[in-house]
Amino acid sequence: MKIAQRLFPLLVLLAFFSCDPIKKSTATLKDDGIIEIVFLQMNDVYEISPLSDNSGGLARVATLRKSLQAKNPNTFAVLAGDFISPSVIGTLKYEGKRIRGKQMVETLNALGLDWVVFGNHEFDYDDLGDLQARLDESNFTWISGNAQLKSGDLVRPFFKNRPGGEEKCPEDLIVEVKDADGTTVKLGILGVLITSGQKPFVAYSDPLEAAQKTYKSLAGKTDLQIGLTHLAMPDDLKLAEMLPALPLIMGGHDHDNMIHRIGNTTVAKADANAKTVYIHTLQYDKKSKKASVRSELRKVNGDIPDEPATAGVIAKWEKIKSAALSSSGFDAGKKVADLNAPLDCRESAVRHRQVPVGQYITDAMLAASRNKPECAIVNSGSIRVDDILSGVITELDIVRMLPFGGGISEVEMKGSLLQRTLDAGLQNEGNGGYLQLGHIAWDLSQKVWLINKTPLDKAKIYRVVLPDFLLTGNETNMDFLKAAPKEGGKGSTNPDILNISSANPSDKSDLRRDIRLVLIQFMRK
Ligand SMILES: [Zn+2]
Repeated sequence: MKIAQRLFPLLVLLAFFSCDPIKKSTATLKDDGIIEIVFLQMNDVYEISPLSDNSGGLARVATLRKSLQAKNPNTFAVLAGDFISPSVIGTLKYEGKRIRGKQMVETLNALGLDWVVFGNHEFDYDDLGDLQARLDESNFTWISGNAQLKSGDLVRPFFKNRPGGEEKCPEDLIVEVKDADGTTVKLGILGVLITSGQKPFVAYSDPLEAAQKTYKSLAGKTDLQIGLTHLAMPDDLKLAEMLPALPLIMGGHDHDNMIHRIGNTTVAKADANAKTVYIHTLQYDKKSKKASVRSELRKVNGDIPDEPATAGVIAKWEKIKSAALSSSGFDAGKKVADLNAPLDCRESAVRHRQVPVGQYITDAMLAASRNKPECAIVNSGSIRVDDILSGVITELDIVRMLPFGGGISEVEMKGSLLQRTLDAGLQNEGNGGYLQLGHIAWDLSQKVWLINKTPLDKAKIYRVVLPDFLLTGNETNMDFLKAAPKEGGKGSTNPDILNISSANPSDKSDLRRDIRLVLIQFMRK
């Protein structure tokens, strides 16, 4: 005690004369009017673990966040939309319920995420209960400037259920940030998302108009404003032109890293699945009201160690995933093929035009068939990975690509029904009911469908292989395909489908029981 008392004045003196600014007592610092705020940006993250090329992994991002925060407590981790769907884990069941993004919210909570903006994939689960559960479980703030919850005629903000009652998801956010020398600023964050693929339980408004409106309200209440968006890049660039005072727009939806400077505005997107993250350092001078942004694209790979708490959460979900996959007959890490060209499985490709992945799947379906079908169709909505696959493809990648699985059936159908199906597929461009076609082509000049290069004959009977899902009649605009085999043999409940041949579940050699086994077998050859 006595020694401590005697030492005390000496310590104070030492601190006072120290050259190291960290040891300076805050009392000696003077508000310099300049503040630095750091943003750790992710966007479009579907996987919690590293990918097969060992890039990504949210436990590594958690380590980055910790080290950035140790250097500057004014560090915010943000995610610019698309994270609760799609993923392999999300499609699996745990404790009797579909997981549906629970693994992601739990991981992001552990990582210490601060803010997100809704992305279009947050509305993937048509059962609103899943999205509500994810909102309730989350510890981070969901910003939504242009989408609200719609039930019947009632439109209201999305919300979290909290012990004290409902907590609204804000249209925008105001955060007071203070640094070590006492410089204090009010930061306004606006957040909007793309309105494609609209869902009936969401009321959308135009994202650019909403952003402009929000900006006007924020400008009166805050020192500086930034954007967190989930838009296609052309719209982000329009936003940057419309609102030149924003120093930074952190975006998503595009899956490749990109950065643009429009005037004084930086518009940036990192790579999907946290293969990279952006670290933005925003410096703001209160006196001149000038903001500048330094942006660094950081690769997330094995050079960054895992943060233990986040890694623990991820390990728990990986264990659940491995058990579920192996019980369905998949060996997650087993190599299927080495791709010689990247395979574009993004929705912006598979739902809009005929692409190589559709060719692979339909060829595989034809190869696994037993009754020599003439052609194959698959709904693009069954391809859910929304990513570009490259390099070594594992069984896990095939499950990522086709997470719902399900069998395939060979049917004999009237040409008139085939024509109706193909026409509906074309009408469905942009949604999951758009069809990828095998041995079928649309002849633009003659305006006819070609089956093996011959014009479709409505009166003929065609042998077609398709996913069982299409025979449920639940695909968009394809209720007319609903069919089930008639009891006790030939024929079906659909007058235009004369026969249905499916796998016998007890015959393990019949791969038709799961489209993923069909594709794995085909790509392995
Ligand atoms: Zn998106």
